[in-house]
Amino acid sequence: MAHTVDRGLTRRLSARRIEIRGVVQGVGFRPFVYRLTHEHGILGWVCNTTWGVEMEVEGDPASLERFIEDLEGKAPPISRIESLSVEGMCRHGFEDFRIRSSEAQQGAYQLISPDIATCDDCLEELFDPQDRRHRYPFINCTNCGPRFTIIRDVPYDRPQTTMAPFRMCPDCQQEYDDPLDRRFHAQPNACPVCGPQVTLKDSEGRSLAEGDEAMTRTAALLREGQIVALKGLGGFQLACDATDEEAVVRLRERKRRPHKPFAVMVRDMSMAAEHGLTNEEARELLRSTAAPIVLVPWRGESILAKGVAPGFPDEIPENRTLGLMLPYTPVHHILLRDVGIPLIMTSGNLSEEPIAQENGEALRRLGRIADYFLVHDRDIYSRYDDSVWFVPAGGPEPIRRARGYAPFPIRLPFEGRPVLACGPELKNTFCLTRDRYAFLSQHIGDMQNLETLEHYEDTISLYRHLFRVDPEIYAVDMHPDYMATRYGLTQEGDHVAVQHHHAHLAACLADTEEEGPVIGVIWDGTGYGLDERIWGGEFLVGDARGFYRAAHLQYLPLPGGDEAIRRPYRLALAYLHTLLGDVDLPATLKNIPPEERRTLRRMVERGVSVVHTSSAGRLFDAVSALLGVRQETSYEAQAAVELEMLADARGRAHEPYPYGTSPIERVEHWGDISSPLPQGRRLEIAPLLEAILADMAAGVAVGEIARRFHVTLAEMIADTCRHLRDVNGLSTVALSGGCFQNRLLLQLVIPRLEKENFRVLTHRQVPCNDGGVALGQAVIAHYYMNGD
Ligand code: ZN
Ligand code: ZN
Ligand code: FE
Repeated sequence: MAHTVDRGLTRRLSARRIEIRGVVQGVGFRPFVYRLTHEHGILGWVCNTTWGVEMEVEGDPASLERFIEDLEGKAPPISRIESLSVEGMCRHGFEDFRIRSSEAQQGAYQLISPDIATCDDCLEELFDPQDRRHRYPFINCTNCGPRFTIIRDVPYDRPQTTMAPFRMCPDCQQEYDDPLDRRFHAQPNACPVCGPQVTLKDSEGRSLAEGDEAMTRTAALLREGQIVALKGLGGFQLACDATDEEAVVRLRERKRRPHKPFAVMVRDMSMAAEHGLTNEEARELLRSTAAPIVLVPWRGESILAKGVAPGFPDEIPENRTLGLMLPYTPVHHILLRDVGIPLIMTSGNLSEEPIAQENGEALRRLGRIADYFLVHDRDIYSRYDDSVWFVPAGGPEPIRRARGYAPFPIRLPFEGRPVLACGPELKNTFCLTRDRYAFLSQHIGDMQNLETLEHYEDTISLYRHLFRVDPEIYAVDMHPDYMATRYGLTQEGDHVAVQHHHAHLAACLADTEEEGPVIGVIWDGTGYGLDERIWGGEFLVGDARGFYRAAHLQYLPLPGGDEAIRRPYRLALAYLHTLLGDVDLPATLKNIPPEERRTLRRMVERGVSVVHTSSAGRLFDAVSALLGVRQETSYEAQAAVELEMLADARGRAHEPYPYGTSPIERVEHWGDISSPLPQGRRLEIAPLLEAILADMAAGVAVGEIARRFHVTLAEMIADTCRHLRDVNGLSTVALSGGCFQNRLLLQLVIPRLEKENFRVLTHRQVPCNDGGVALGQAVIAHYYMNGD
């Protein structure tokens, strides 16, 4: 963090003007300052400004110095100081220390805290029968509770939040006004007398119970196997008993979500350990103030319903992943304690629509899914999904970044004209830059329906307003048909079209605070290429300023486009036919009707309705279907996920299959590239498919083939990186793209690369999947338009 203390002045003068920027509002910062001034005998004032906290202080020089040290060293746990500047000033003769009311400044902005999970102090009160907030579902303090989801404007003060309609009772007001109280200026401060209330309703909207009776009845309904919609922080969630097979199946049918795994909320860490295998890193994430969903290996003895993840093969239980989270609001804590069983906790929406936000909207949209609704009378200002992390080799990585993280910015290594990066089509997030900050939005979703597009535009407006950004540059994906691209192109300003995988590469560099150039191994599903084909198994050498496509998987046909993604057996057939001609089909593909086989064949031969792709994601799909693991999918990456879970390391499974390489004469490139263009390399997979067919014919177990397939990909990556290092001398490898959500692939490839003396970069702050792409777009557009 920046520090601008002029030590010379510090000794001569005994009055200081201090400015602090960062997340310092709504996090107990001013009461902390107030207590410190008492401790050190300091006089003056402190106030919230639009950009942070400002104060003028007087005292004897030694005390002042200690005071300033403590400001940084002892700051409240959820605050984040980005910069602290100290200036000498003339003595003013203050007689006391005051907290002044906030000042709004034109054009200025401040960092906003994400919502924070209920703290231990509040939990203790919540379950203390003597406390006036005993079992009150909206208990919070300056260290915890809602923030971003209730803010309409800055400075962060109660009238600017959705708590504005609730007038504090005298008891709450006293806490709010007392600088020594834990709830001093806690904007959402509330109690049963004056704050929001819960109501239990049936699916027709009739009220059944209020207050604590609503809580106890909800718990009873959940224990009976009912599905309850809960109004949470950033939208509705659907809950049911996660050990009740019948209830879970019913939820799946109604939500039209046949296979995609559900997240499970457990009461505490000991209940977490009954169902998942948590290591220290996973436990730290679960317990953190963000309290995300953490994907951990499934414990074999867990009594969770199979329906929690119905498609997952259970040959090797700990190969399966289980999404666990701890309660993060008082409502969750009360319910989990009352029901005493793990609960499914999934977003309140139908299939891929955005999460429902308002009471009326929820009843309308979720009335056919939920049997009951536990609602309350505080508005939600911003939709906010649960965040998801996983813990692979190489360290924890986010998969979905939302609650608990956004809108806290990523630090940039430059300052320039403000950019709005519009993001990709799937798993969209957008990114606004200002000063040295990249405000990457919370997860928006798949831009494939009107509700999501509205949510996207509303959230862009909110971020522009909160952070006072007027974008001058719009970064869009090169794909002309993406909704986000079209949105960006209709805005007035400069436009930069960014290649999708280049954006992944730049995102990984910005995320890990690296400059590059590096060898970027960018493997994912699909992205529009410079040659207007679909890329996805790429080795891009370069940095945010430019890249060349040094190597890639060979192009293979995608018959019928998206249809082939939903039915991977079509890919398997098309790949086999293209690469091996009239090969004998294995039993796994023989059940496909001859008519469909002939049609596919004709499509591939004549190139009708066929696009060509170098996608690594599609290779996973094709192999998964070929092995008979998953031939039709109901959610993204399902075929690859289930293939990974089958992989079994026993037997010969450590040996790679063969594959081929061939030179590419014309190497594609974009932007500024410092290193010379080498000859490119194409990775050929005919030998790989042939070897898999041979193993299948020999009756080798699917689990062993699945493992050898992963080992082959790791070998392909390591060998290609070695080859590229020989050409250009680069020895840092960045791994990005959705395929690197594959724990097994990371576990195989990272040690292999490190053994070869490569430095390996993996994501830390933003997802390796498309949820991180907007950050990369923003950085690339900056260099393209601003130079350095
Ligand atoms: Zn608290
Ligand atoms: Zn009150
Ligand atoms: Fe991608």
